Amino acid sequence: MKTLSRETKRNIKKSRPYPIRSSFSSTLYVLWAILLALGAPLGWLIMERALNLTAPSPYRDVLYTYITLGTALAFAIFAGITMTRMEREKKLIHELSRSQAELEKKEEIAYHELEITKERMLKISQLGALIGQSTKEEEVYYKLAHAAHVALNFDRVMVYKRKAEGLVIVEARGIKMKNKEEEKALENLTIPCSPDAGAVGIACQENRALIFASEDFIPPKYRLKPPFDQIRAIRSRSFLLVPVKIERERYARAIVAADRKYKRTDVTSDDLVSLEILADIAGTTLARLKVEKKLEVLATTDGLTGILNRRTWMEMAEKELSRALRYRYPFSIIMLDIDDFKTVNDTWGHQAGDKVLQTIGSILRKNSRKVDLPGRYGGEEFVVLLPHTEGEVALSVAERMRQAIEIANMEISQEVTATFGVSWFNPETPDSTLDQILLRADKALYQGKHMGKNRVVASWDISTGG
Ligand code: GH3
Ligand code: MG
Ligand code: MG
Repeated sequence: MKTLSRETKRNIKKSRPYPIRSSFSSTLYVLWAILLALGAPLGWLIMERALNLTAPSPYRDVLYTYITLGTALAFAIFAGITMTRMEREKKLIHELSRSQAELEKKEEIAYHELEITKERMLKISQLGALIGQSTKEEEVYYKLAHAAHVALNFDRVMVYKRKAEGLVIVEARGIKMKNKEEEKALENLTIPCSPDAGAVGIACQENRALIFASEDFIPPKYRLKPPFDQIRAIRSRSFLLVPVKIERERYARAIVAADRKYKRTDVTSDDLVSLEILADIAGTTLARLKVEKKLEVLATTDGLTGILNRRTWMEMAEKELSRALRYRYPFSIIMLDIDDFKTVNDTWGHQAGDKVLQTIGSILRKNSRKVDLPGRYGGEEFVVLLPHTEGEVALSVAERMRQAIEIANMEISQEVTATFGVSWFNPETPDSTLDQILLRADKALYQGKHMGKNRVVASWDISTGG
């Protein structure tokens, strides 16, 4: 047991009840006895005088005997009562001091437990704050697993994240694996979020914590089912499963599994509470990250087409230019403008026009690589930045996009086409500003419009330089 802090000891002293003191004073009883012993002859003298019994008489003898016997009897009764009371008092004092000692001991234990709880709560709140500061979903799981393993002292901790295909392990601490096969099995493990897999699936589906505190018995329903029961690393007899919940989500977003297999001790309800607090903080943090992500999407993309808005596209293009300047690599810009879009709006209405814009947005996305940046530049003007791409390559990408637009179903009885202008950043003859590159693409596009629209024009074909 840990020693108590000085403060706790002081608190215990302060809160002690009054010290036990005798409520019957034995001295008082002795005084009473003396008083009685002296009182008898005194009483005799007073009686003698009062009744004038100085001369011998039968009355005198009777009275004398009566008073002597009476006094002796009273004295004996009094002494008897006194002794019994003193005996009882002694017993009572003994009992009282024994129960006070017990009380003190209990108090000391309670204070000790309180100190431990206080310490644990402090630790949990610090860890919670740390989890709460996460900026990425993975960071939340990492910190949660770390906190459970190191601070809550669990031997083995695993975090299962719920994905479309089922629960997969995203964090593991303290898991001892026998061989490479087991490692692989764990890596590829996907547990369904349903009772088909045992406790983990149930905790996920029912979105609630489960505790198996005793080594004795796990109901069959909660046992790992084949083939999962073959993986020794996830088998346990006394363990906790705690869900990471997100408001309004029916199933758990993740499940934390923890045990003390190597220490060979059972998990407790205190463990459950501690881990649940941390998992709740993780859930709140994930919800916050989700909202932040939504806000970021709203702020950086165009609401109609879902591709980057002009401001964000310009910022990212500027960054790309400075990287390309520093490391001397090329990039290209494709600019396109829908042909006769005014007539689309005029003939089929604004809503049909919007639909065309959306379709073109998704065509640009589909025909770009992951690293490319498609953006809505203006009303019906789009741009695509292609990092590490020379002009000729960009030209063929633009041509592919032009064709895709031409054949796309725009849900109106009118063919929709677009004209493209392509320019590129040539590290051999570098431009210093983004505007210069954009202007070249714009000029090429303008040239394309003059040449009869629905075509791709390279900026280097209409002017000197790249
Ligand atoms: P050109 O072939 O020369 O490009 O002719 P155009 O008709 O496409 O050119 P213009 O610039 O004259 O017309 C662009 C039209 O695009 C005008 C505007 O009403 C329309 N437009 C711009 N933004 C939106 C939008 O968000 N939704 C819809 N439906 N139309 C838009
Ligand atoms: Mg235009
Ligand atoms: Mg146009």
